[in-house]
Amino acid sequence: MGWVRSKRGSKGIFFIALNDGSTIKNVQIVGEDQNFDEETVKLITTGACLKVVGTLVESPAAGQASEIQAKEIEVLGACDNTYPLQKKGASWEYLRTVAHMRPRTNTFGAVLRIRHNMAMAIHTYFHEHGFYYFHTPLITASDCEGAGNMFQVTTKNLYDLKKDDQGKIDYSDDFFGQQVALTVSGQLEGELGATALGQIYTFGPTFRAENSNTPRHLAEFWMIEPEMAFYDKTDLMDLEEDFIKYCVRWALDNCRDDLEFLNKMVDKTLLERLEGVLKESFVRLPYTEGIEILQEAIKNGKKFEFPCQWGDDLASEHERYLVEEHFKKPVIMTDYPKEIKAFYMKLNEDGKTMQGTDVLFPQIGEIIGGSVREESYDKLMAEINRRGMETEKLEWYLDTRRWGSCPHAGFGLGFERLILFVTGMQNIRDVIPFPRTPKNCEF
Ligand code: ATP
Ligand code: MN
Repeated sequence: MGWVRSKRGSKGIFFIALNDGSTIKNVQIVGEDQNFDEETVKLITTGACLKVVGTLVESPAAGQASEIQAKEIEVLGACDNTYPLQKKGASWEYLRTVAHMRPRTNTFGAVLRIRHNMAMAIHTYFHEHGFYYFHTPLITASDCEGAGNMFQVTTKNLYDLKKDDQGKIDYSDDFFGQQVALTVSGQLEGELGATALGQIYTFGPTFRAENSNTPRHLAEFWMIEPEMAFYDKTDLMDLEEDFIKYCVRWALDNCRDDLEFLNKMVDKTLLERLEGVLKESFVRLPYTEGIEILQEAIKNGKKFEFPCQWGDDLASEHERYLVEEHFKKPVIMTDYPKEIKAFYMKLNEDGKTMQGTDVLFPQIGEIIGGSVREESYDKLMAEINRRGMETEKLEWYLDTRRWGSCPHAGFGLGFERLILFVTGMQNIRDVIPFPRTPKNCEF
């Protein structure tokens, strides 16, 4: 049983390329017109769903090793010519307008099978390395460092909002009795897990109301966030590198047919790039040295849209210059100025930089954001106060530092950014079945 990808015929014989979604490879069905009633044969059109009974034989023709000589064909679901995926070579933009149907195309089938395989790789990697899968909440009252703008969750009647004397919305009668939102990161809760179970990882949906409309951002994406007690910066970078390489290796070992298809149809350098990442040691580059390299490049005539003085947050053009043009391999950038990083990162001796360890990849830019966490209660509080943050909703987090605090570190990997890299697809909207982006929540 499967769906018709194409049908052709000549001299009383027809050939159907049938696909059931389990692999990129179609099975060829061969039938003779005279053995089937005319009505049935007419209904065998691109997109139709068939049940075929026949004999599997060695194929006499080149192009496939075997084929099925059909004895019976039943049309389970006919498909008329309004089917939106008839034509080959439809644009990505067009396919997004029929995102609910595009999994039936070869490319999206390949991407989605790889996506599944990457999820299996991730769970297997962590399980084999002694990490526990830890579930952090999706509805939260804390906003994790303001990692992104949040989607509010409420059961209040928005047409009739109760306000207090100062005009502020009164949440006491809302479902949770306070203002809550969808999570932008499971990290803070993940730290609770790591300081109890030693090594944990999360793998779940993450929501950011980013109005950025880039090919690298979704409003709803999946993030993997391992958090490890007793890890220092070197341990952390070793894990980031080993973990990503494991996932890429898994794809090469388990998704060969789909990768070869994508390498042929989407990106001719894909396999080469995946193999390349496995061979290279990632460069470990302090931010300050990165800035020096970028400044040197500017001196030699390189033009960037955004500034990159010491202290600036690097834009993806800078990250990609370092990775794709300067080093030509993945870079783990470390020790960022504290002004551009989150409050929980461990401060270096210099008092100016923090122990972040972001992984920058060719084509993608930032794929992992990681850091050693500040384990000292006093230092963490000093940073919180310096930033003028409220601690009211963070007390539970600070308890990790109050009682039995320990050195620890962790990172967040954007699942779809990994899939972008592994598939060679260009737009993050095309590596998740139902993308959510600004003004787009249709399917
Ligand atoms: P960026 O600078 O690319 O917006 P970020 O620094 O805000 O990312 P982090 O808060 O460090 O992201 O999140 C950890 C990882 O989650 C990132 O390295 C990236 O892989 C992924 N990620 C972050 N935001 C998004 C998003 N909107 N859509 C998809 N993946 C994302
Ligand atoms: Mn980041």
